[in-house]
Amino acid sequence: LPGPDVTALTRAGVAGRLPRPGHETDKYRRGVVGIAAGSDQYTGAAVLAVGGALRAGAGMVRYAGPGRPAAQVRARWPEAVITELDEPSIDGVGRVQAWVVGPGLGTGRWARELVARVLASDVPVLVDADGLNLVAKGVALLRRTGPVLITPHAGELARLTGAGRDEIEAGRLAHVRAAAAELGVTVLLKGSTTVVAEEGSPVRVNGTGTPWLAAGGTGDVLSGIAGSLLAQGLSGYDAGSCGAYLHGLAARIAACGAPLTAAEVAEAVPAAIRALSGES
Ligand code: AMP
Ligand code: MG
Repeated sequence: LPGPDVTALTRAGVAGRLPRPGHETDKYRRGVVGIAAGSDQYTGAAVLAVGGALRAGAGMVRYAGPGRPAAQVRARWPEAVITELDEPSIDGVGRVQAWVVGPGLGTGRWARELVARVLASDVPVLVDADGLNLVAKGVALLRRTGPVLITPHAGELARLTGAGRDEIEAGRLAHVRAAAAELGVTVLLKGSTTVVAEEGSPVRVNGTGTPWLAAGGTGDVLSGIAGSLLAQGLSGYDAGSCGAYLHGLAARIAACGAPLTAAEVAEAVPAAIRALSGES
């Protein structure tokens, strides 16, 4: 399968792109990631996305969301800086180097306004899940100035492009490439193998995953991991592909041939980074 337009992600390639803190680094220079996720109905997505972001090495994680998910993120992750939102605005959140928006957000007016505000910022944005469902319903994606990485599964990509879900599954490479060109953004298409496309570059194929990843919440963890890498200065293409690689490797380490939960995938990300760096 690999050819000039397709390339397999390698261990050395990912290891060489992963950010490492320098001697003089402080937490702000290591990358501050903002997570706009979760709703009163879906609180877990917020907890899992924040967990993925913390474990993937951002210097700071800022969470912004409604009261119920904010309380759960605060209880689970004392490391995160929480802004409880009454209004769908990110003005009071403080500076971030990248945003993750969408997991568990819902698709009502409040969520729509929040996604629009995040996309109106000037930093890189990762859009996932309900963020993508809102974009499919007309929230502007292309008019923003900063880079965009989207992380759909086949169903979400189908809603975005109008192609059929089965059609996408049958031709994942062609569809991810076409979507990147058509939408003008970096596209990470999730599935049993995850593929990452950016116009003008070969499609990167990740093979580290495991079928045990087919479980609720694992996609939210991936959003946090890739968003964390975006905030640490990687391009959307590198953050998406290295994030998918780490996510799959973490799942293999956590699963070890048995069922796993999404939270366990996040917990195993440092072990995956350690395995890549050869340190123990
Ligand atoms: P989501 O679709 O948002 O719930 O995310 C599910 C995550 O699990 C993605 O990272 C997928 O790539 C991964 N995944 C789902 N099914 C499989 C599978 N059969 N093999 C490997 N990874 C999978
Ligand atoms: Mg998902």
